[in-house]
Formats: sequence, structure tokens, C-alpha cells
Amino acid sequence: MVRLPKNQIGGGFMSDFGQLPYRFGIKVRIYPSDRQKQLIKRNAEAYRFVYNEHHAIQQRLEHLHQIKHPPTKVHTLIQHLTKSLDYQRMALNHSFLADPRIDAHVRLQAIIDYHDRQMAYQLGRAKRPHFLRKSYTWRYQLACQYHHRRHGSLRNGSIAFTDTHHVTLPIIGRLRVAGSQRRLLSREALIQITLVTLTKDAVDHYYLSLQLTSLVPFVRHLDDQPRPIGIDLNTANFLTTSTGKTVASPHFNRRLSFRFRRAVQRLNWQRHLAQKERRPLRTARNYQKQRQCVAKLLIKLHQQRENFLQQLSTQILRHHDLVVAEELRGQDPARNYAMSWRFRDPGWISLLTMLRYKAQLYGRTFITVNPVSTTQTCSHCGYVLHGQQKLTCRERTWWCPHCLTFHRRDQNAAQNILNRGLIRLA
Ligand SMILES: [Zn+2]
Repeated sequence: MVRLPKNQIGGGFMSDFGQLPYRFGIKVRIYPSDRQKQLIKRNAEAYRFVYNEHHAIQQRLEHLHQIKHPPTKVHTLIQHLTKSLDYQRMALNHSFLADPRIDAHVRLQAIIDYHDRQMAYQLGRAKRPHFLRKSYTWRYQLACQYHHRRHGSLRNGSIAFTDTHHVTLPIIGRLRVAGSQRRLLSREALIQITLVTLTKDAVDHYYLSLQLTSLVPFVRHLDDQPRPIGIDLNTANFLTTSTGKTVASPHFNRRLSFRFRRAVQRLNWQRHLAQKERRPLRTARNYQKQRQCVAKLLIKLHQQRENFLQQLSTQILRHHDLVVAEELRGQDPARNYAMSWRFRDPGWISLLTMLRYKAQLYGRTFITVNPVSTTQTCSHCGYVLHGQQKLTCRERTWWCPHCLTFHRRDQNAAQNILNRGLIRLA
């Protein structure tokens, strides 16, 4: 079971179902039959088509609205386009969408997801929506329907568990899931499914991600050890805490890089051979074999990173009731070059996201503070180094010229971050 951050899937849409206070996500492997694989493919294609169609129409509308004194022709065009945004009309215009093997809710969900994206973009929380590309991975989302949401459970929605090993979905039918969901089903009456995502990855493994809401917490709140901690994310290692503990960088990229480069070289070679003989890549067997090999390495890398971050974030929250970290502004255009190279490794951003949602889950507090000059400030007396005194990147330890305290560079920064957090909360 992999926990998903709340904001990963359809955050805005979720809030419509906000009756139940606790939210949780799980991702499980599923084993569809060949017939079901075809159905999943068809629905994923329909989802992508509707999403892209919607995006294309919205883009055209945006352009047309920019015309200052539009002639009548443009007016009628705008009206026509606005009408065709309706998903029922879209099914009329594109007859293949009326296929009974395509779930009507999938089409609707594509439009809802598009609007969520658009909204997130306008609020500055996400990038501008873009066309979904055709690729070796498939994905579509589906909301769970209940007759009476008040009495909804894991077993009586349109997406439901039939037993500890099987889930039924509309159109797709009964699917076997990996492992036993006995623990989840032991509280079936208290938990509802809001949204599911069906995915196929590049090596043809199928997964089902479930967004759940519940009346009771999914995990027990931890309430011992009231210890605050500050975290400094730095370049020398992965992170340093205010208690002086350091976590070394895992360097997953570097570990895999040789094998990965070799595999990509072979892939390029297979592509070259296929193109020379004018064979389409989709039917070139050696190319496809090598593509799967590259995809496997990438997935392995991703899973290693994910495991490392999940374990680290849980461990931090288990032992501390207040966690303060620095703000990472990944998309700040004003950032300088020295900072920007740090953001090439997305590990820190994922870690902070995990800390944020897990803190809620465990009943802990997590906040971020502005990290300006935390390295150059004495955490003991508050003296700020300036001019010639400023630490260069090489200096790992220093004495405060004002109170003569000995400092380890990163631990001191972490302590300053913690102090700022405590001031803010006070
Ligand atoms: Zn000092």
C-alpha cells in the first residue's frame, strides 16, 4: 500500500464531498483480464480525448475573446464553441464516444479534472493545463457514485469492494487486487470511496488508486514526545536537523546512471534500426523490449526515492510534534543560479509535501518559514554575520564573533529555522 498526498489527485473536486473529516489515499496493484485491459484502454483513450478536446476549445475561446470589436461571425463562433463544451453534445459530435463500453462518468470526469486544473492554474498552484500526450502509460479517473452518501460505505457505491481481494467498477467489472484489504474492510461502514484512478504504467502493470474519506482517523494520532525540530535542507547532505542529526543524500540517480545510460543507448540503436527499415516503432519487437527495460529502470529509481522519502518523513513525524522547515519556492523566477541547481532534485519538494499531509494525518504540526540568512545568523544570540564575516560555502564550522559560541553550519541553520517557527506560533 502506498500513501498518496491529498493534492495529487483532483484536490478541488474532492472538496465537494467534504462531509467526512478524514481523507486518505491508497494505491494497489490490480490484475485485469485481457478483456478488461481492452476496456481500460478504451476508457483511458476516451478520457484523454475529452480532456484534450476541451482544452482545444478553451484555447480557441481564449483567443477569440481577445478580439476587441468582434464581428458577428466571431460572435456566432464563440456561441457555437461554448455550446460544444457540453459533454453530451461532445458525444453527439464524436460518435465513438457513444460506445457503450465507455463509461459516461469517465467523460464527465475528464471535464471536471480539466476545470480543476484550470482553477489551480488561475490560483497559481499549478502549471497551465496542457494536452495529454498519447503514451505507453494510460490513466483515467472516475468518481464513485452513491445513492445516499450518508449511508455510503466501501461496499455499496458504484465502485465497491465485493470481498477482501476484489473490487467492482462500472463497465470494467470485477477486478482482483493485490494483497488482502482486510484491515480496510474491517471499518467498511465508516469509509467511503470518492475518486479512483486506473493506471497502466510503461511496463504494463495496472494500478488502482483510491481516494477515501472516513468518519474516523485512518491512523492513530501520535501524542507522546512533545519535541519540536527544525530542518535545514542543504547541499552537503540531504538534510540536517536542529538536534544535529544528518541524513546523507541517497544519490539514486548516480547509482543507476551507468546501467541507465547503457540501456538508453541500446534503445536509441534499436530505434535507429527500426527507422532504417521503415518499420513502425509500435510493432518493432526489439525496440519495444528495450523500451520496457528502460522503463523498468526508471520505475525502480522512482520507487527507491519514494520509499526513502516516505520512511524519512514518517520517522521525523513519529519523534517530533512540531516540525519547521524552510520554504522552497520551486517556481520563483527571481531565484538565483546557485539556488536553482538545488531544485533539480525534486526530493526536497516531495519530502515537504509528505510532511505536510502526514502531519495532518498524525495530528502533528508542520510549518515552513522564510529561510533568508538562517545560515549567517547565530542561533544563540541572534548576531548576523555581515561583510567580510559572511560564511563561504566551504566553511562548515564557525565561532560567533559576538557571543563566542561554536556552531556547526547546518545545525545552526536548522536551529534558526526552528526558532523562527516557534516565534511565528507564539
Ligand atoms: Zn552569537
